[in-house]
Amino acid sequence: MNLTERDQKYLWHPYTQHKTASLPIAIKRGDGALLWDEKGKEYIDAIASWWVNPYGHSNKFIADAIYKQLTTLEHVLFGGFTHEPAVILAEKLMEILPKNQQKIFFSDNGSTAVEVAIKVALQYFFNKGEKKTTIIAFENAFHGDTFAAMAASGISFYTQAFQGMFIDVARIPVPLKGQEQASFTALREVIKNNNCAGFIFEPLVQGAAGMVMYEPQSLDELIKICQENKVLTIADEVMTGFGKTGKTFATDYLFEKPDMICLSKALTGGTIPMAITTFTQEIFEAFYDEDINKALFHGHTFTANPTGCAAALASLELLQSSEMQDNLARINQSHLDFQKHIESHPKVATTRVLGVIFALEIKTENTESYYGTLRNKLYNYFIENGLILRPVGNIVYILPPYIISFEQLQKVYEVVEKAFEIV
Ligand SMILES: *Cc1c(COP(=O)(O)O)cnc(C)c1O
Repeated sequence: MNLTERDQKYLWHPYTQHKTASLPIAIKRGDGALLWDEKGKEYIDAIASWWVNPYGHSNKFIADAIYKQLTTLEHVLFGGFTHEPAVILAEKLMEILPKNQQKIFFSDNGSTAVEVAIKVALQYFFNKGEKKTTIIAFENAFHGDTFAAMAASGISFYTQAFQGMFIDVARIPVPLKGQEQASFTALREVIKNNNCAGFIFEPLVQGAAGMVMYEPQSLDELIKICQENKVLTIADEVMTGFGKTGKTFATDYLFEKPDMICLSKALTGGTIPMAITTFTQEIFEAFYDEDINKALFHGHTFTANPTGCAAALASLELLQSSEMQDNLARINQSHLDFQKHIESHPKVATTRVLGVIFALEIKTENTESYYGTLRNKLYNYFIENGLILRPVGNIVYILPPYIISFEQLQKVYEVVEKAFEIV
């Protein structure tokens, strides 16, 4: 039996209806933007393996850093102890994060980074003796699959089985072009009618919703409204962080800075699961007290894993290299060129580009569901043609590793354009 067949006996895959899903593809090897399955077929990983892998698969530089750390200090508990990789990583992140961010808390994945931020928002007011329990989030948001993160997420597909079991979340529309005022008004209304502790958002790009984009000026305005009303703001940069939008963080496009930032995905270059939530000094001080009950009683066994920190440090070095910065600019230009070429195609409804993110919406008669037939047809077509892309309904997006070559990227565009023939 091959791996695909053996997989079926014991394994349960994420976001998968095993009764109807096609069998998983067994990947044996990766190098740069390429992956090979057990039959030797080659794929371009055009979504950087769920947005985690900017610097390429099996990256030697990161692998060496991991090996060195594994053979020096692989792990030590972080309660009562600290270590060099965590200290240096915190110092390096402080150099590139918005200046108001002063404290770093480690966890394991994007969902836990969000979970920590939401718990901190709620406990911040609890510690101050104020009752504020509502979290504000966007429609169609995605913040992860643990319980508070799921509550903040607005894609019903993921959450419908758990309705009625969540923390209080009030939802406002995304300030899409032409709908900015409706979004601002909704936020003011929600704040007036609820005791709001925090507002969580994916800055500038809603990834899981299909790379839905909105302008920094609108987010500045929303953050300002929160600041005027003492509502804490949480930028979920799990997807957008580390270069995806063309700047290191999406919040680098903003004048108003958030109180907390969630990071994961590309943090370790797609090697080791790790996440970080960052905070202002003011938030930290609401927990800093003689009273032990005011402490943040949250932690995970592998908090600040030294090997993960070493991977993150190597990844940061790669991101900041001039070669990688050139790659970001090159991919953005290629996307803009492809956008110009494709936007008037009769089957294309809209296109959008930010940084290395490209998305287009295919014209359809009916609204397409998240995992609908059009989506599956496209997905299968891409796989047949050696391309890993996961369309969302009628939206096809490209978010390649930054090291993808010019030729590989052109092949991605060609296959996407050819896919219009089958829709
Ligand atoms: C992927 C994602 C998460 C969840 O991260 P996991 O590591 O999958 O738990 C949270 N927020 C955003 C914006 C994401 O894209």
